[in-house]
Amino acid sequence: MRFDSDYKMLIDGQLVSAGEELDVVNPATGKPFAACPRASKDDLENAVTAAQKAFKSWKKTPVDERRALLRKAAGLIAKNADALASLFTKEQGRPTELAKQEILGASYWLSSTADLDLPVDVTEETESRRIEVHHVPLGVVCGIVPWNFPVLLASWKIAPALLAGNTIVLKPSPFTPLCTLKIGELFQSLFPAGVFNVISGGDELGPWMTSHEGFAKISFTGSTATGKRVMESAAKDLKRVTLELGGNDAAIVLPDVDVDKVTEQLFAGAFGNTAQICVATKRLYVHEDIYDAVRDKMHALAKAAPVGDGSAQGNMFGPIQNKAQYERVLDLMEDAKKQGLTMLHGSDVPKEGYFIPLTIVDNPPENARVVQEEAFGPILPMMKFSSVDDVIARANDTEYGLAGAVWSADIDKAVEIADEMETGTVWINQNLQSTPMTPLAGHKQSGVGAENGIYGLREFTQPKSVYIPKSSDSVR
Ligand code: NAD
Repeated sequence: MRFDSDYKMLIDGQLVSAGEELDVVNPATGKPFAACPRASKDDLENAVTAAQKAFKSWKKTPVDERRALLRKAAGLIAKNADALASLFTKEQGRPTELAKQEILGASYWLSSTADLDLPVDVTEETESRRIEVHHVPLGVVCGIVPWNFPVLLASWKIAPALLAGNTIVLKPSPFTPLCTLKIGELFQSLFPAGVFNVISGGDELGPWMTSHEGFAKISFTGSTATGKRVMESAAKDLKRVTLELGGNDAAIVLPDVDVDKVTEQLFAGAFGNTAQICVATKRLYVHEDIYDAVRDKMHALAKAAPVGDGSAQGNMFGPIQNKAQYERVLDLMEDAKKQGLTMLHGSDVPKEGYFIPLTIVDNPPENARVVQEEAFGPILPMMKFSSVDDVIARANDTEYGLAGAVWSADIDKAVEIADEMETGTVWINQNLQSTPMTPLAGHKQSGVGAENGIYGLREFTQPKSVYIPKSSDSVR
């Protein structure tokens, strides 16, 4: 199988082209290097019809068979990790070694999720009756994925949807469709026709999908603004939704930390994937006693950071993934400059492509746009604090509630602060962690529902209560 050409959709077990194509741009050059199918309404219709048909038998396929196929799917991804990683770098921008970690992460997620179980619950067992709660699949799932972690986040949808007995039509972002299309090709003869479908398209495809009556559930990851549109569209026929949305995550650093050690982790937590991580640290609050030391070390790390084309050896930070996002980050930078904020820039970046230097904004006011908005790019506001109560209030003063972090040598104190944070995840002396068994769930406008683990799996099912008498006499 070739990974550098022939990008086709997987519909009803067939690899298909579309009447039109979309250019796919390498963000390290700003130039198109490939094209993907632009699905028409007919293509969507075919995918949904195939998935509905396949659902009838897939839901009855023994769960152990479904598990076994997911484990094989994990194996296929792992076996092709090198080829997928180099394609990933071209379409997404991330350096290849780091891209490979995502590919292997997706494989790990598929096989780990395959181990999950949703046993029948018994809520009552008496002489006269037994009440069982079964977790039945919903139907056809619409999976919509963003461009920042295109393969890993797809696996978070594929694995629980299929394990629970649903079928799926998956849509990658128009900016990063290629790895997902190739994964469709890898899975072509693995799953029965129609169980797993991948379609790619332009901006019109997502709204077509969310308003299509053939879907029973939408599993969406993306921005809060789009998530609201998805929920509105799903409301028309009460489709189930899981929404994993934006964040403006705060990290709080107490004065008792080891500055050198912690700063390296803070830096990675803020700038990893060129700061295009939903749960990256996007507001860094540092106690005034150590603020200058942390800021200077962060700046030194930014100045030493190797930023460039992810396909070249040695680069650790790639470009911004697409032009629109690049322009959004430049606009925030321009605004910070206009406000007279102090910007500490990192190493020089290539002139070609969507590169922006890793940048720290030195103690901006809380109402600056760069503090209030999710940048989703390498511009990190660092703020001073002196009182813990005050910093908790500032951390929580946002419409978002995705994740946060507390850094301290005093774990009990850190746990107390973590308890106060209005976020779905809090890390203590670590960041960016997630596991297939642990829910990721946004508080406030960062999401609805959860992904991962038993919490995520349940969202792909409907509880069905069955009242079973112990004899054929009626039960009162
Ligand atoms: P986006 O909302 O622009 O797009 C996400 C996906 O939705 C893409 O596939 C896009 O084509 C599709 N889409 C766009 N408009 C649509 C519509 N009206 N109806 C249906 N689908 C539509 O987000 P993005 O720019 O690709 O991703 C960045 C955002 O995603 C950030 O806000 C980030 O924080 C968030 N994110 C959240 C998580 C999480 O788990 N909470 C993970 C990764 C990214």
